[in-house]
Amino acid sequence: MDIINPATGKIIESIPEDNKASVIEKMARLRSGQPLWADVPLEERVSVIGQFGQLVRNNLDELSLLLSSETGKPLQQAKNEITGAHNRIVHIQAEASKWLAREIVTAAGPTREEIVYEPLGVIANISAWNFPYNVGYNVFLYALVAGNAVAYKPSEYASLTGLKFKELLWEAGIPQNAFECFIGGPAVGELLLEVDMDGYFFTGSYRTGKYIAGRVAGKLVPVQLELGGKDPLYVADDVADIRQAAINAAEGAFYNNGQSCCAVERIYVHERIYDEFVQAFVAEVKSYVVGDPLHADTYIGPLTRKEQPDLILAQIQDAIQKGARLEVGGKKGEQEGYYLLPTVLTGVNHQMAVMKEESFGPVIGIQSVKNDQEAVQLMNDTEYGLTAAVFSADESRAKQLLRQLSTGTAYWNCCDRVSPGLPWSGRRHSGMGVTLSHLGIRAFTHPRAWHLRD
Ligand code: NAD
Repeated sequence: MDIINPATGKIIESIPEDNKASVIEKMARLRSGQPLWADVPLEERVSVIGQFGQLVRNNLDELSLLLSSETGKPLQQAKNEITGAHNRIVHIQAEASKWLAREIVTAAGPTREEIVYEPLGVIANISAWNFPYNVGYNVFLYALVAGNAVAYKPSEYASLTGLKFKELLWEAGIPQNAFECFIGGPAVGELLLEVDMDGYFFTGSYRTGKYIAGRVAGKLVPVQLELGGKDPLYVADDVADIRQAAINAAEGAFYNNGQSCCAVERIYVHERIYDEFVQAFVAEVKSYVVGDPLHADTYIGPLTRKEQPDLILAQIQDAIQKGARLEVGGKKGEQEGYYLLPTVLTGVNHQMAVMKEESFGPVIGIQSVKNDQEAVQLMNDTEYGLTAAVFSADESRAKQLLRQLSTGTAYWNCCDRVSPGLPWSGRRHSGMGVTLSHLGIRAFTHPRAWHLRD
């Protein structure tokens, strides 16, 4: 499989892909290793995860360069991702022992009752490329600490990073038959759907997630899906600082080139402050430096996938044809590689694909609304349910609006943010199940009821 650098379109490296025979062989090893790993005391498993975190930190420069070269992520943002993802390890160190410990429900009496959180077994982690550290850690580290063996399939756009995870996990002390990496695209993912597996944890698009859930439904094993979003942000007319709100909203929309599951994908602004907000927002976007991901001041690098600039251009053209106004961007970059200039559209409406379909790139539509009610109605006009944000000076007003939306995450005066202490979950087309928080620790276990009579 060729690994392409999106900033140049050139091959970085060619690596061997998995096939049916290698998948069967690796799965047999995971199957035999899982009970042994589950027998390792919990404190020791936590300590190995900590050791992995240390190794990642020690290799920060090399790992961020690798991540940047295979995804096109600006180097500084690659570093931010790697150092930021460490908070999952801190969370595991602080909380795993508490939430995975045996619970004594009834200590005395004729029948004592206990809950034991047992690992699921061997689980598949089929993952995405946009934040391989964050979304990878959310699954494979939490699964490992609970005593599972992990069949990790990195995205074909983040395979070198995936192989590094394997190398460093093994070096840290995860047994080689408790974590394996499966290299390839959809066809290798398909092979993982065919084999005997005790759970499927998928991060990726709605289309693939829906397919996988259907494909493995008959196995009746746990299936979790962390899928896409069309996350709305509403700026109410009472925001304390319109310019600051615009800067924050723009960052939520354009960080990582808009390739975040929880990126702001559509913005509604109260008509009283619409013009001022748009002016500040466009000025901010014009200040973004587009260019080589390895340059320190680059904020917008290339998109990761070759076909993505054309897909987004089609959304932009559809919007313009239907009456939207192009404020900035709207075309590919002049450099080689998969560049699309950061694009702002105003005067948009819900007849336009850009306000309805996940863009997953550097484009945003800003729509004026008459009042809070119209904002809520438009924010709810989606099949997705990942996050929603309200910017307002008034917490109770924001909460009252957010309560009317069905999303896994609600943001007041912030956006595009994930915390290991809080559950990360989507609703409807944004997925099902939970990672992170104590719920995400237990997501990789079966609770077992013990009835004990002396
Ligand atoms: P994708 O669905 O194209 O691919 C995801 C993974 O599935 C890859 O590893 C791919 O090889 C594999 N795959 C594809 N077809 C398969 C098949 N038929 N059988 C088995 N495996 C298959 O998604 P992507 O482009 O990697 O990621 C982008 C999407 O992920 C966006 O929609 C984004 O919003 C979403 N995402 C969600 C979260 C979240 O936490 N909710 C986080 C990151 C990304």
